[in-house]
Amino acid sequence: MQSKLEDGRYSSEHIRRLYRKRTRRRDHAQEALCRDLLDRLYEKGVNTVYIGGLTDVLDTHWSVETNAKTHNFWSFKKFTERLVCTAEEYGISVEVRSEAWTSQECPRCGGTDRTSRHEDTLTSPCGFEGHADLTASETFLERQIEQAVRPMAWPVRFEWDDHD
Ligand SMILES: [Zn+2]
Repeated sequence: MQSKLEDGRYSSEHIRRLYRKRTRRRDHAQEALCRDLLDRLYEKGVNTVYIGGLTDVLDTHWSVETNAKTHNFWSFKKFTERLVCTAEEYGISVEVRSEAWTSQECPRCGGTDRTSRHEDTLTSPCGFEGHADLTASETFLERQIEQAVRPMAWPVRFEWDDHD
């Protein structure tokens, strides 16, 4: 749409309308996602949710890609705020922590520099092989609860499916 505008113009009412529509859809999806997630967590007796922070993704110069990341970052921030608010109703607390290196670390040997990721699979020279996102979530969670009494923790992966 932008490429069809006159020279020197960067936006139009039509473009702004599309952005507003996207924002509304995103807000609605986030609200539904938060409720659904918290219902499940509440039923499992969860009292604290740890979220991987995204602050390190912004340490690059501006580019189209960074711009997209910034957009995702603000969506993420909004999502976190929404989750915190809704979680309050359930008596669940939400903590944002750094997830640095959790996606490279092997849960079996603790190695980070020789692991490799191919599509959804993380492999390590020690022979470990597992689902990359689940492994990263588990490593992340274990780091948060190292000093605490270890509750029963198991990895679960949710994927957004447009309300279906
Ligand atoms: Zn390993």
